[in-house]
Amino acid sequence: MPQYRNVLVAIDLSEDSTPVVQRGRAIAEGSNAELHLIHVIEPLSFAYGGDIPMDFSGIQEEIHQQATQQLHRFAETNNIDAQHQHILLGKPEVEIHAKAEELGTDLIVLGSHGRHGLALLMGSTANGVMHGAACDVLAIRVGKQK
Ligand code: AMP
Repeated sequence: MPQYRNVLVAIDLSEDSTPVVQRGRAIAEGSNAELHLIHVIEPLSFAYGGDIPMDFSGIQEEIHQQATQQLHRFAETNNIDAQHQHILLGKPEVEIHAKAEELGTDLIVLGSHGRHGLALLMGSTANGVMHGAACDVLAIRVGKQK
């Protein structure tokens, strides 16, 4: 098995995040690598900005706080300290690539699809991260599809 030095696990905070981080942890422990967690919040303006003329800053702040709390709780349960948790605002694949580069990550671990993924299809974040990644990417098969 290749030896990794820095493993970055990308989670969407859905229930599938647990098997994804467990695989990331097993690989990190086997390699004596650092284990980092990342969650990216997509700005509401990306989805609705052009269509709905309203100020999203209040609700965006609320989403940020909720996601930060969820990430902290998840990280605590999985024994990952604050220095190894990253929450960012932007497009998931862009922020995951940028953080991986900043940390010197040599393996990104994510789920094969997320909350919005269709069974049997590779999710769009997984696809986006695979394309253009400067390091190995491991997509863990998650969900109930057979
Ligand atoms: P998707 O491509 O959206 O179906 O999600 C595939 C996988 O990408 C998920 O199982 C997560 O591991 C990861 N992922 C999806 N969305 C995010 C996000 N906003 N932040 C970090 N990782 C994510």
